[in-house]
Amino acid sequence: MKRRIAILGSTGSIGVQALEVIEHLPDLFEVEVLTSFNNAELLIKQAKKFNPNAVVIVNNEAYLYVKEALRDDDIKVYAGEKALCEVLEMSTIDMVLSAIVGIAGLRPVYHAIKHGKTIALANKETLVVAGELITKTAREVGVNILPIDSEHSAIFQSLAGEFHNPIEKLIITASGGPFRGKKRDFLRNVTKNDALNHPVWSMGNKITIDSATLMNKGLEMIEAKWLFAIPEEKIEIVIHPQSIIHSLVQFEDGSLKAQLGLPDMKLPIQYALTYPHRASNTFPRFSFNDYATLTFETPDYDTFSCLNLAFNASKTGGNAPCILNAANEMAVQNFLNDKISFLEIEKNIEKALEEIPFTTPQTIDEYYESDHETRLFLNKKMNLE
Ligand code: NDP
Ligand code: MG
Repeated sequence: MKRRIAILGSTGSIGVQALEVIEHLPDLFEVEVLTSFNNAELLIKQAKKFNPNAVVIVNNEAYLYVKEALRDDDIKVYAGEKALCEVLEMSTIDMVLSAIVGIAGLRPVYHAIKHGKTIALANKETLVVAGELITKTAREVGVNILPIDSEHSAIFQSLAGEFHNPIEKLIITASGGPFRGKKRDFLRNVTKNDALNHPVWSMGNKITIDSATLMNKGLEMIEAKWLFAIPEEKIEIVIHPQSIIHSLVQFEDGSLKAQLGLPDMKLPIQYALTYPHRASNTFPRFSFNDYATLTFETPDYDTFSCLNLAFNASKTGGNAPCILNAANEMAVQNFLNDKISFLEIEKNIEKALEEIPFTTPQTIDEYYESDHETRLFLNKKMNLE
């Protein structure tokens, strides 16, 4: 039986790579649903190629255009945020791959879990904002959340056969981003183009900026905390510029297990899709001839203070990681729109965490309220300045 997949955010960096993986394994997968936010052209092209049961475009204004373009195809076309959730109820979907960026991915994934769908998760913000509720609900319903983020896939792969052995420590590796080794004086003047120029990975704009501030590692630490039920104190970040060792697990006997491979997201995407099996492919292979040395450094927490903000918000719990995430999403957007400088990203997040009252959200709606409150606060602050 083929595994039937819904891809949320199919027009993004991860979504496109997921379709490349599926294209090369036609005996294993069938595409059931594709979705985009605004990108009608690519969604139509993907739909014509993969012939899904349904597509969803979130932006209502593009609905008629997509509907018209797929008039002669046997594909249902929906629009809007509500449809993004409801389409996942289809009994023909086995697995939902979430490659939406930001908190926008939270509600659809929650909805899919409630309806018993296995989740392949790239959208780390889902677990950063509401990790407790999401993992609790997944446990109650008996749904697996399979990580796509390369670090978490590495940990997940290292844990195969070890599920009864306690973890002593998780070591998450980081490339260090484009500003590795730089100090704050340098960061004061960096531009959007400098920050978007990642040395190793080619990814969507938001995560590329998160990699430059190292917030991405902070978000990944929180993601790992929920996926593997490990407290912050047992998670260490190590800079590894070559991005070959994707992360490590240390067990009680001191043994370390790691997963290695070339930095190519198609590998962890494929592992999540084929889990618990592996499938052969023709992706380029790692060779020691190309990598004579693998190096490691301690992160510079003084320069990249987003890492501290993430650790602190995670320890505080409640709505703090949600505030951290919302403020980061807004600040990154404002930086990409040339409204604030690179170092103002962390300042905005710090301010939001200081000013917005602590709550302990229990429902998805309560998390979205905290997110909304943070965005209102930062909007107001921007207008005052
Ligand atoms: P992109 O920006 O490239 O793609 C985002 C996708 O989500 C697009 O399909 C976009 O549609 C859609 N989208 C954007 N906003 C909304 C919204 N409000 N509602 C519904 N859909 C929306 O992001 P990436 O692929 O880089 O990243 C996706 C997620 O995966 C992020 O959470 C990221 O942190 C994570 N991740 C990414 C990695 C990578 O290599 N790229 C690596 C590890 C994790 P449209 O095209 O129409 O705008
Ligand atoms: Mg990652």
